Amino acid sequence: MCGIVGYAGKEVCADILVNALKKLEYRGYDSAGIALFEGDRIKTVKAMGKINDGLVPKLSERKNLTATCGIGHTRWATHGEPSDVNSHPIGNGRVSIVHNGIIENYRELKKFLVSKGYGFESETDTETVAKLLDFYYEGDPLEAIYKALNDIEGAYALSIIFREHKNRIYAVRKESPLIIGAGKGESFIASDVTAILEHTREYYLLEHHEIAVLDENGIKFYDMHGYDIEKELQTATWDITAAQKGGYEHFMLKEIAEQPSAIKNTLSPRIKDGLVDFSECGLTDEKIRNYHNIYIVGCGSAMHSGLVGKSLIESLARTRVTVEIASEFRYQNPLVTENDLVIIISQSGETADTLEALKLSRRLGADTLAIVNVVGSSIARDADMVMYTNAGPEISVCSTKAYAVQVAFMYLLAVKVAFVKDCIDAGYCRELTEQLLQIPGVIQKCIDRKEDYQFVASKIMSAKSLLYIGRGLDHALSMEGSLKLKEISYIHSEAYAAGELKHGTISLITEDTPVIAVATQRRLFDKMTSNVKECKTRGAKIVMVCHEDMTMDESCVDYKIPLPSVNDLLMPLITVVPLQMIAYYTSVYLGCDVDMPRNLAKSVTVE
Ligand code: GLU
Repeated sequence: MCGIVGYAGKEVCADILVNALKKLEYRGYDSAGIALFEGDRIKTVKAMGKINDGLVPKLSERKNLTATCGIGHTRWATHGEPSDVNSHPIGNGRVSIVHNGIIENYRELKKFLVSKGYGFESETDTETVAKLLDFYYEGDPLEAIYKALNDIEGAYALSIIFREHKNRIYAVRKESPLIIGAGKGESFIASDVTAILEHTREYYLLEHHEIAVLDENGIKFYDMHGYDIEKELQTATWDITAAQKGGYEHFMLKEIAEQPSAIKNTLSPRIKDGLVDFSECGLTDEKIRNYHNIYIVGCGSAMHSGLVGKSLIESLARTRVTVEIASEFRYQNPLVTENDLVIIISQSGETADTLEALKLSRRLGADTLAIVNVVGSSIARDADMVMYTNAGPEISVCSTKAYAVQVAFMYLLAVKVAFVKDCIDAGYCRELTEQLLQIPGVIQKCIDRKEDYQFVASKIMSAKSLLYIGRGLDHALSMEGSLKLKEISYIHSEAYAAGELKHGTISLITEDTPVIAVATQRRLFDKMTSNVKECKTRGAKIVMVCHEDMTMDESCVDYKIPLPSVNDLLMPLITVVPLQMIAYYTSVYLGCDVDMPRNLAKSVTVE
């Protein structure tokens, strides 16, 4: 969370910084600001609210900005409410910083600094770092940074400027992500590469506690002991257009529409002669056979994709899978051993809770497999094995295509494990992979039925609360549907195992509680219709999401969302589309900010 940027070069940079921040705004939008070297001073402009609402109008009042070096920040507040004074950059005129992360020992640091005569203006943890740097600074920025880092506990990506070291930026990180972009005669700092793609595709990955120093002459890297280090230049494969809206009203809609190609990019390279091939990452058949347990760990939608994975792997491969919420897994002394495989799922590869779960699993001796979207991200680098989901950049805070490809990956995994463990033969394996490869085309048909989704959205938008119900795979999927709706339309909803409703939750149902019943599993269809009837009897309006050829007592369904019929096992890949689209149109009709919902940010790099 939080986006940080920096520019050192020859161009007037205020607009460069603001445009880069806009690309990172999905990471947080409580406030934004920039600090520039103007003449002999550091000039700071910052404001609460989204970039276009706060920072841009404030900047337009400052006509003569000529700086060619500066830093910037878009905030997702952790310490101190969103306000002008809590906005970054934070500093005192001599040192100015932008920060992504949390300084855990900020209270002790503050006490110490107050005892040294420092006053504090903001309520942020970040201000302690700015003051600490000032305290240690005696003319040599690197020395001040080393000393300050020794005292700081927590997670951080920092860009730092010192008034006396004009047009030079210092950057350092621990846990939080940061890349250093290398252009021609200019260099950049950014929380992720999408922010700088319009300037350069070449970048360096900064490792923990490495320090980068940028100025118009180029970039230098130092280790914690002050020695120069050489770093390998990386080239971004993402296309700049992939991070633009491309004519769509919202990124979310664009990303839903990209699901067919994203899924194809995930599946195709890993299906060879009809069998699943994981040779890219070293997950051998022998390893798969020998694992005692499989764990899947993630947060939010990534965790939900794991729930679909659990259901698939257990039914196809008769292998037990435990799905864990990363933030819980970390603190519950997990039973993981060196005989186990821990699969870590994260779109950004930077999710702090998930990253910590990965580290814990490694300490416990397990093999770790990362399934991530962002190439070179922390989780990708720290895991024993990594496979990329190839979805391209996902900008909307509400995950759609990243979830879809994670689910697609779960199919590959389930088919692979089932085949290796002789639960399915090569013939069935080929049949399943063949069907999987047809899915992108089928999804396209679902995407095209927007009138159905608009109609349902118009019916549920005035509800205060909703229930999503389903059984088995449909229950796992319902959780994702419910999360989408809550996240972007602010309507409360809950996903419930349909058969469990009668044990308590059914008391919530009134005629004002719409129920979205996901019923794509033929063998459970009759049971589902009974549960739907139970809700209908109590007055609920029912939206039934099911195969187009399934018939039921029409009197118990108010709206039917018909789905193209494919193998029941593959239905989650298709069914997610209506659930995403219903949430999308509900959010649009309610006038919510679809891509930047309140209180949220993408790439959750704080715990
Ligand atoms: N902890 C800092 C603040 O609240 C930075 C937050 C972040 O990384 O999102 O200002």
